[in-house]
Amino acid sequence: MKISEFQEMIKEVFYDKDMKRGIDGTFRWMVEEIGELARAIKKEDRKKMEEEIADIFAWLCSIANLSGIDVEKSTLKKYPGVCSKCGASPCECKE
Ligand SMILES: [Zn+2]
Repeated sequence: MKISEFQEMIKEVFYDKDMKRGIDGTFRWMVEEIGELARAIKKEDRKKMEEEIADIFAWLCSIANLSGIDVEKSTLKKYPGVCSKCGASPCECKE
C-alpha cells in the first residue's frame, strides 16, 4: 500500500469524526499518542512502540486530510531520496 492509499483509507474511515473534532482537537490526540510513544521507548516496550507509531501516523494523516495536504507528495518533495541539505545518501551532515 502506498502512503497516498493509506491516507485515503484514513479519510474514508475517520474524516467525518475528524471534521467534527477539528484540527486543534485532532492535533491534541496526536500529541497524546506521541507522549505514549515516549513512555513506550522509556520502558523499551517494542510492541507498544509499534502501536504508538501506527497511531501517530494515522493521526498525522487525519491532520493532513483536514488541511487538504497530500502526505506522499509533501514528504517526497522534502525527502526525495537524498538529504535536502548535503544532497547525499546516507546524509553526511554534522549533527
Ligand atoms: Zn545531510
